[in-house]
Amino acid sequence: MTDPLPPLAPEPRLLPRRPPASGPLNLVGLTRAGLAAALAAAGTPERQLAMRTGQLWQWIYHWGVRDFLAMTNLARDYRALLARHFTLALPEVVRREVSADGTRKYLLRVEGGHEVETVYIPEEGRGTLCVSSQVGCTLTCSFCHTGTQPLVRNLSAGEIAGQLMVARDDLGEWPRPGAPRREERLVSNLVLMGMGEPLLNFEAVRDAMAVVMDGEGLALSRRRITLSTSGVVPMIAPAATEIGCLLAVSLHATTDAVRDRLVPINRRWNIATLLQALRDYPRLSNSERITFEYVMLEGVNDADEDARRLVRLIAGIPAKVNLIPFNEWPGAPFRRPSWARIEAFAEIVHRAGYAAPIRTPRGGDIMAACGQLKSATERLRARRPPAVAATATAAPRPPGA
Ligand code: SAH
Ligand code: SF4
Repeated sequence: MTDPLPPLAPEPRLLPRRPPASGPLNLVGLTRAGLAAALAAAGTPERQLAMRTGQLWQWIYHWGVRDFLAMTNLARDYRALLARHFTLALPEVVRREVSADGTRKYLLRVEGGHEVETVYIPEEGRGTLCVSSQVGCTLTCSFCHTGTQPLVRNLSAGEIAGQLMVARDDLGEWPRPGAPRREERLVSNLVLMGMGEPLLNFEAVRDAMAVVMDGEGLALSRRRITLSTSGVVPMIAPAATEIGCLLAVSLHATTDAVRDRLVPINRRWNIATLLQALRDYPRLSNSERITFEYVMLEGVNDADEDARRLVRLIAGIPAKVNLIPFNEWPGAPFRRPSWARIEAFAEIVHRAGYAAPIRTPRGGDIMAACGQLKSATERLRARRPPAVAATATAAPRPPGA
């Protein structure tokens, strides 16, 4: 029988620096402190700074307003000053596709002409936005489409938080003045599981999540945000203390020999090192369990013996195990196991006392499922037209309009 594993992936490549922004400063994605500093630099008097920062924050993140001139509780001159110095820019929606199951995928263009994808997954009683943290990914996991993309750069905090704002525009989810508060939110959860390795873009992800969690703005609670990492061990404790959201870890294999070849970063931080970092995780508790992600690859990591090794490895860690049936992409060197195999694996994990949900693939018809994201434009050209063509995102209605 031939070995189903591909040859070893190359070592992670170096990230080119993000090109410096040109033109007026974009305020989207600045933390409150960053926003205050920008307003001070533009000439806002010191004694007004806290108030102006709060007002602007609400316009941008609570009401979703992008036009300084529509910020009606600010003096006209001050609005004009803001418009001279700053912009409020989001990634541009180049294409929007809607899957038969309601999943929406946005292809977004960011500074420098790069493209990233964001996916909205509506479910009963909740809606999850899957957000990208980098253009492409340096880590070349052999089962991941994103990892095959050569061009990589970090996204800025504004480009990360901006993905949620783009989705809110598209879903019409900004509050309307005077309208009753909607109890159920369309985007109720956010997962950092799109393109890129969030812990290799730590500062931007941290700042973006501070913006997203701020109670006077987008206001997603930290327990509704999950960051997925392939295992950047030194950044795991800082993620707990400085970001504070829930953690998911892409384990995918139960021996170093197999994990080395699936998740090449394992050669730097192996399974034992990774699990030790999780045992030391500052936020570890039963209410904030770690999610282990495990992509099911036929004949590679899906045997009963793997399931038994898995539960031995994670013993003592409050956790659940998300089993992700492999999502195929053109040229992928793996296959998805049968449902019977996946269920048998899940049963072993479940009997050992761990929740072991099998993640239902969503948005497969528009290549929006886990691991299918890739921004290469040649892929778009090669494909048939999507179910729904690109639409301009609706401008949010300013309060009082
Ligand atoms: N870079 C981070 C987060 C993005 S990937 C990480 O690796 O954790 C989000 C999840 O999708 C990861 O668990 C990843 O391993 C998984 N994934 C990648 N490619 C996949 C594929 N083709 N099928 C199913 N899951 C995949
Ligand atoms: Fe990067 Fe995650 Fe894909 Fe690996 S699975 S290449 S870390 S995005």
